[in-house]
Amino acid sequence: MKEYPRFLTEDSEPFDPVELAKKTEEIICKGSKRKYTDFYCVGVYGGISTGYTVGCYLRCVFCWVDWSRDFPDRIGEFYSPQEAFNNLKQAADERRIRKMRISGAEPTLGKQHLLALLELVEDSEFPTFILETNGVLFGTDKDYVYKLGRFKKPHIRLSLKAGTPETFERKTGAKRESFEIPFRAIEHLKDAGVSFHVAAMSADPRFMGDEERVQLIKKLWEIDKELVYDLEEEVVDPYDTTLKRLEHAGWKVDFPLRERWDPVRSVLRNLQED
Ligand code: SF4
Repeated sequence: MKEYPRFLTEDSEPFDPVELAKKTEEIICKGSKRKYTDFYCVGVYGGISTGYTVGCYLRCVFCWVDWSRDFPDRIGEFYSPQEAFNNLKQAADERRIRKMRISGAEPTLGKQHLLALLELVEDSEFPTFILETNGVLFGTDKDYVYKLGRFKKPHIRLSLKAGTPETFERKTGAKRESFEIPFRAIEHLKDAGVSFHVAAMSADPRFMGDEERVQLIKKLWEIDKELVYDLEEEVVDPYDTTLKRLEHAGWKVDFPLRERWDPVRSVLRNLQED
């Protein structure tokens, strides 16, 4: 069962996420088609039609995504860009919603599919398209980000997993040498003029200690102070898949969360106002 890198266990060896991305694309992409599990509307972002993608090249211990992340060979169906767009549109129309996104595992896998889907969104009546990513492919492929920059509608939510190389490896299973790649993605998105903001699990002391949080904030601050003011800070929720992944990886975490860190942006704003 463990051949294809699946969920982390206590004896998992760190992997190269770029190599795993290629391996995953071989499973979930066929020409311009890629795998999804479903399309439906959810309440986040004030209501949004969402396509749930299959496959990722990180193995975060707190990941909530269904088992298609770990078993992309067994779960999901292939959709062309036009079929994916049609399904997003149908779900949106049924609920009279004007926003779309692709989420689930890692939507940037399948460059050909994503760029073709964005062409369809660009020519449509839908004004906003949210793309949620861990940023690794945008950090290693500048051309991808510049191609994305041609479109007006996408807004990228780039989710950082850790504030140090060591904790990045521990939480995602990817080699610590790849820790910097998502920060490079941020630089690329800025250079290409793409609309984006950064999110991190940095409000959750169970997954990010004080010192690590400071390191993460410092790195963002050095790139652009606004990234810190706009930082979306999250906590980990106890989905069934999250709890199982934590257990497999040997993490002991108490739920519910008793106390979260104060939001960094409010702390900084208060400091500025004093
Ligand atoms: S949390 Fe996101 S980046 Fe991490 S494994 Fe899950 S889908 Fe991939």
